[in-house]
Amino acid sequence: MNDAVPQWSPPEIDPTVPSTARVYDALLGGRDNFKVDREAAEIFANRIPQAREAARLNRSALIRGVRYMVRRGGIDQILDIGCGLPTAQNTHEAAQEINPNARVVYVDNDPMVLSHGRALLADNRTTTVVTADLRERGRILDHPDVRRHLDFDRPIGLVIVGMIMQISDHESPDDIIAELMKPLASGSHLFLTAWPDTGHPAQRGLSQACLETLGNGWIRPIERLERHFQGMPMVPPGLEYVSRWYPEEPDREVPAVEDFEPYERTQMAGIAVKP
Ligand code: SAM
Repeated sequence: MNDAVPQWSPPEIDPTVPSTARVYDALLGGRDNFKVDREAAEIFANRIPQAREAARLNRSALIRGVRYMVRRGGIDQILDIGCGLPTAQNTHEAAQEINPNARVVYVDNDPMVLSHGRALLADNRTTTVVTADLRERGRILDHPDVRRHLDFDRPIGLVIVGMIMQISDHESPDDIIAELMKPLASGSHLFLTAWPDTGHPAQRGLSQACLETLGNGWIRPIERLERHFQGMPMVPPGLEYVSRWYPEEPDREVPAVEDFEPYERTQMAGIAVKP
């Protein structure tokens, strides 16, 4: 891989500072990253064994959750905040495989996601990308592209996967989620993954690697993660470790937590439905 800054890099990108989207891309084995991002990915790999598998585990949960919402939950419009750089399989592809008319708005605060997303979506009229920050929830909800693409009178699937751990307690993640859910119609889904803190060293290692390289990445007790879902009813199996989370297959045999590899303790997933 070439370490020079490639031509596709938007001018506002600082290639000397690692970005979450690019470090995650590096962990997933993608090509849209710089040397500094690959060095950060190495720090992750040193802090928790199988850090790359952990990234893939999160990505597989993303696809399972999207499929659940579209196939079982009847969701045909999705707002995916903190969507990341396009990779092997993306939210709109998983959704449109089931319902070709499903509409998706991607939101990310990294401008590189916009430039790469636009290239991927040049021919896709039901999907768009917006650059905005989760913390500017009002701006996201009022954004003309969001309003043009999504019908707020009908249920929307709000996806916040692999990013709420980047919002500090000081920034009140639960309030942000509540404000985003507020204008959504009854039947809307909230699909979220988060990092638990049960005292396991792999959880601490992941958080430390993230704080060290990116300046954010907080683990939280499971009761705190449950509060992200605002008391709304959860789709079975509720908030679960990703390796045990198969919302489309509630009867599937899943591994016992005691049999987990350490990295399998680092992420939990859940979907709640707005009454
Ligand atoms: N959601 C994708 C997934 O789970 O595969 C990507 C997750 S990646 C680890 C986190 C993404 O969230 C990055 O692309 C990053 O740029 C974005 N992000 C982080 N903080 C954000 C914020 N405050 N607002 C919007 N996007 C944010």
